[in-house]
Amino acid sequence: MPESASNLREADRIDTGPRFTDHDAVRLNRMFRGMGTEEMLEAVIKDDLAGDLAIVSSFGAESAVLLHLIAQVDPGVPVLFLDTGKHFPETLAYRDELVDRLGLKNLVNLHPCLAELEMRDESGLRWSYDPDGCCELRKVKPLAKALAKYDASFTGRKAFQSSTRANLPRFEIDTSDAQGRLKINPLIDWKAEDIAAYMSLHELPRHPLVERGFPSIGCSPCTRPVAEGEDPRAGRWSGWDKTECGIHTPSGEEGDLPPGYEPF
Ligand code: SF4
Repeated sequence: MPESASNLREADRIDTGPRFTDHDAVRLNRMFRGMGTEEMLEAVIKDDLAGDLAIVSSFGAESAVLLHLIAQVDPGVPVLFLDTGKHFPETLAYRDELVDRLGLKNLVNLHPCLAELEMRDESGLRWSYDPDGCCELRKVKPLAKALAKYDASFTGRKAFQSSTRANLPRFEIDTSDAQGRLKINPLIDWKAEDIAAYMSLHELPRHPLVERGFPSIGCSPCTRPVAEGEDPRAGRWSGWDKTECGIHTPSGEEGDLPPGYEPF
């Protein structure tokens, strides 16, 4: 790695060892240092540098940018959407609008396990007393199951979004399990104004809740609008000591980066 991912992939997808290592991620970060996002995406996707890829998208306030960038290279890259059952109807409509407008060919809606919901969230109100447990049922587990089929996933995280994202590299290892998947953060160095300019340039549709004061949009019970000047993510799990849903387990987020990594 990373000359070609195919020689590390196993035909029957039995995971006997990690697909990528921190060494691979460090090499990829060095290889693409200084290269623009479009060029980097083109190389990663077309040269098969990261194996079987998927995008994880919330179809939130800024999701259109990464989806558009990747659709320009390959609109067939699977787009994984966590259909938690708790989204705003506006988000579901926006998802469908973007899929149509961008010509995305492979939307994959991930649902929580019904049997687990019946056992652990029969009332559907777990978010109100145990948001971590609710996120685990409705986000973390369905995504982990889906990602087991892939070698790498793209996220839309940006450094400016929060202090916990400020030091993330472009390429890192997904530490949520031992499979050694790559996690790729193509927009990590994009500023809010870059996102806005790209949306305008390409006339991308906006999530309808943005103009109603929602700069960061998650499930409806756990997202409130924010006041001007507030942190854009202040409306997520407001009142709880929680800033992330748990699908992004720490590498650069809650701890130090492993040796060899440098922040982008
Ligand atoms: Fe549940 Fe809220 Fe997490 Fe959605 S964001 S999965 S409703 S706790």
